[in-house]
Amino acid sequence: MATVLVLVPTADGAPDKVALQTLTLGAQLAAGGDVHALVLSDDAVAAGLGAWGATSVHVAKHPALDTPAPDAAARVLGDLADSLGAAFVVGPGTEEGNTILARTAARVGLPFAANCVAVTPGSPVTVTRSRWGGSLLEEAAIHADRAVLTLAAHVIEAVQTGGSAPVEAFTPRLDDADLAVRVVGRVPAPAGGVSLSDARVVVSGGRGAGSAEGFAPIVELASLLGAAVGCSRAVTIAGWRPHTEQVGQTGTKIAPELYVAAGISGATQHLAGAKGAKRILAINKDPEAPIMTAADYAVIGDMAEVVPAISAEIRRRRGA
Ligand SMILES: Cc1cc2nc3c(=O)[nH]c(=O)nc-3n(C[C@H](O)[C@H](O)[C@H](O)COP(=O)(O)OP(=O)(O)OC[C@H]3O[C@@H](n4cnc5c(N)ncnc54)[C@H](O)[C@@H]3O)c2cc1C
Repeated sequence: MATVLVLVPTADGAPDKVALQTLTLGAQLAAGGDVHALVLSDDAVAAGLGAWGATSVHVAKHPALDTPAPDAAARVLGDLADSLGAAFVVGPGTEEGNTILARTAARVGLPFAANCVAVTPGSPVTVTRSRWGGSLLEEAAIHADRAVLTLAAHVIEAVQTGGSAPVEAFTPRLDDADLAVRVVGRVPAPAGGVSLSDARVVVSGGRGAGSAEGFAPIVELASLLGAAVGCSRAVTIAGWRPHTEQVGQTGTKIAPELYVAAGISGATQHLAGAKGAKRILAINKDPEAPIMTAADYAVIGDMAEVVPAISAEIRRRRGA
């Protein structure tokens, strides 16, 4: 039997789906012990978590927690874990869950195992972790009195237990230092256009585009094909395109019928986001670029010439 504390992030008045899967993992790890759930601010969600395996629910109420503030959330989670004597502190392997749990561990010098696909209790606790965008599975042991880990998304099904759990609200202690990282504003994604994650065709550019202006032919081809525009991380880091267009491990995972990758080398972290594509057309000056091993079709040439030539041919065939 073990005491388990599960972080349950919420959005729009509903618990994160992966967090419900994490509650199921929590119940397995507790093996009859207590499964505590921590919710930040959202009372409405708290009441329903008993039905997903929580035996007690704690709601941290503080104005600083109404918008994402990962250091503050990490402190609340860590302090609660101390007061409960939790042997496991677990959360969903989402961007938010990993951000908070990594900080929870780092604050007290504990190891952190992100994106676990299997967890075996013991001394030490052993885990299998999904790494490099799912292209590598790592076996690891957590040598610590408290295992801090996240569960990779959708590797186990959330099981409804139909139970109920008492809900206790509390006001956590937070200092200014805990609020150093917080959301201070939001920029809405541009309206209209085709959503990258759902697009049937995605046309992406990489560093080979050369500049923000060098993306004009990519945007034009995407528009002709009714496609979404994508890009590599080299491009977002250079500030040529917004992060919302980044394809890859730290960007959007896409699954189009056709992925056109122009001036993109095909780094593992990029392909981790593009491996759901049914067909890949690579346009690259370098016939040895790694993307060629993933490509179904390739055009070896300068994208500044090849991409406009494709657009011109499409227009010609449409008689425009
Ligand atoms: C933890 C981590 C996470 C990461 N996450 C991501 C991610 O989510 N997405 C991502 O994309 N990357 C990610 N990266 C970065 C990744 O490793 C690569 O650095 C990045 O993908 C390279 O971008 P690129 O292919 O545009 O640039 P480069 O690797 O510089 O490749 C440019 C390519 O363009 C070709 N080229 C140059 N000029 C032309 C031209 N005129 N015409 C045609 N071809 C031309 C070159 O031959 C080359 O193949 C991540 C890295 C790390 C460490």
